[in-house]
Amino acid sequence: MKNYRTIYGLETAKCSWCKRSLNPHPEYSEPIPVKFIEISRNITVTLCLWCFEQELKESNEFEEVFEETLREKYDAMKLIGLV
Ligand SMILES: [Zn+2]
Repeated sequence: MKNYRTIYGLETAKCSWCKRSLNPHPEYSEPIPVKFIEISRNITVTLCLWCFEQELKESNEFEEVFEETLREKYDAMKLIGLV
């Protein structure tokens, strides 16, 4: 599995899936930590750590399955105007 770097404190951070932009922990008033996952040459999906973990579990941590699932979800969301 690739090591997807976590970005902390990015003001414009917003999860592509759940749309959260605030840190879920009430004691931290900072932007949500996110990971950028490049699913194709010009499309990058931004996932919060919670969504990232969910996707990771669902793909059994197979990188190809993981990225393919993200591509399918992204395409589906694009169709209905969510991304
Ligand atoms: Zn999320």
